[in-house]
Amino acid sequence: MRENVLERSARLGNDERARRFCINMKQDYAYKKTYAEIRAREFVKMCDEHGKNYHVSVGGLDSITLLFFLRSIGIDAPAVSCSFLEDKSIQEIHKQIGVERISPCLRDDGKPWTKPEILREVGFPVLSKEIAGKIDILQHPTEKNKTVRHAIITGETGSYGGNRKDTRMKLAEKWLHLFGGYENENENVNYSKPNFMVSDKCCYYLKEKPCEDWAKEHNSVPFLGLMASEGGRRAKMLKLNGCNYWGSRTQRSCPFAIFSRQDLLQLALDLNVPVPAIYGTIERGPDGVLYTTKAKRTGCSMCGFGIQLEKRPHRFDLLRERNPKEWDFYMNHVCTDENGQEYGWGRVLDYIGVPWRDEPPMEACKALSFFDDESEE
Ligand code: SF4
Repeated sequence: MRENVLERSARLGNDERARRFCINMKQDYAYKKTYAEIRAREFVKMCDEHGKNYHVSVGGLDSITLLFFLRSIGIDAPAVSCSFLEDKSIQEIHKQIGVERISPCLRDDGKPWTKPEILREVGFPVLSKEIAGKIDILQHPTEKNKTVRHAIITGETGSYGGNRKDTRMKLAEKWLHLFGGYENENENVNYSKPNFMVSDKCCYYLKEKPCEDWAKEHNSVPFLGLMASEGGRRAKMLKLNGCNYWGSRTQRSCPFAIFSRQDLLQLALDLNVPVPAIYGTIERGPDGVLYTTKAKRTGCSMCGFGIQLEKRPHRFDLLRERNPKEWDFYMNHVCTDENGQEYGWGRVLDYIGVPWRDEPPMEACKALSFFDDESEE
């Protein structure tokens, strides 16, 4: 009989692995720094044994710090990035430190995908990668994903999932009411459906696939600057698989997996890492805690992941402040529906109840306006 997920998890000792990982997360900075060095060297050895090259996938401050850390311990890995997605100040640092720029995936006509095309043809990346992925499945029903759709609506997993009820597969009630309507007939429920598409695949087309293609072409596997302390789906994956993972399809090293934000900022200071202007500077508060004076985390300014959790002025307000024309295009005109009506992020935000039409106080915007004009299109 086929092993279910609970049996598999027990066989792999997942609970014990996660427990050990959490103990390491609680160690001090010096311990974690040494631990990161050992893991990084281990990964280089694995690469040598498997005849693979290695590189650093660079984005914001975390992975820039990783690049400096690896160089500081004598691991000279080429650095690559989908720089065009990043803030201008990050792109400038990338140039200074010799990061190679990778273009997004190519469409069938040989041209690279752009963000507007992703929104029009793939769907809006909104709420979170996990939630968007579930909505995407509901919007693309097949016989094969029937059990998963049932689990998304009810939380019941079926036999492969160990016949569990009430699992985290179920969409939160709030989102079920707005997005669960695709299964009304199958599940005898009465939820709503949006009049736009949602997807978790934006990153895939703009970042992940281009990086994978580069890696394949160069027979190379990546060092990544991920930390479990940042939470989300990746935290679970790091806790289960640890810093270094060498599977049949995926191989990667995350030497900072057990780091906290404090550890990362301390290391950036120790290594004199150039801090992109979007973050401001790294300072120590009266309580001794390190912080960046401007952005805490960066990413694409037009991304909808996490927007429901942001206070105003949120990222769309900031875009309005620094580039009203671009804001208007993305909020109101980027897509056209089957009735010929133009729409954009505004329709999505209205639907999930995020305010965006009124202008928040300008002073607040100025204080938070970390982005320069972007040149991503
Ligand atoms: S971070 Fe958001 S906008 Fe940027 S590539 Fe990923 S999903 Fe798309």
